[in-house]
Amino acid sequence: MSEVTTAREGVPKKKPVRRRPRKIASTDLADAIIAGDAPLYDPFTGTELSTGETPHYSPSMRAGLEAPRFCQLCGRRMVVQVRPDGWTAVCSRHGELDSVLLDPHR
Ligand SMILES: [Zn+2]
Repeated sequence: MSEVTTAREGVPKKKPVRRRPRKIASTDLADAIIAGDAPLYDPFTGTELSTGETPHYSPSMRAGLEAPRFCQLCGRRMVVQVRPDGWTAVCSRHGELDSVLLDPHR
């Protein structure tokens, strides 16, 4: 018996359950960026902008080369993934933001 590893027929297959994808359904954050809404929270420092505080940006932040660390809608810390060609930042509430959205040259 050498086909043990492939003999899987005996195992009752579970019906494919509609699993919620890991992606967050909300596109609020991306929508706000595309619409050019003024951020409520600073995307790099998490400062609540209504307090009148002016966050200090590094040149790379200003150039959009750095991924935002905070959701500009709620100030939550986002999960940031940096890729060779950009980054993805995800707010657990407001969805995903991709650097592609911020780069008009693409
Ligand atoms: Zn958010």
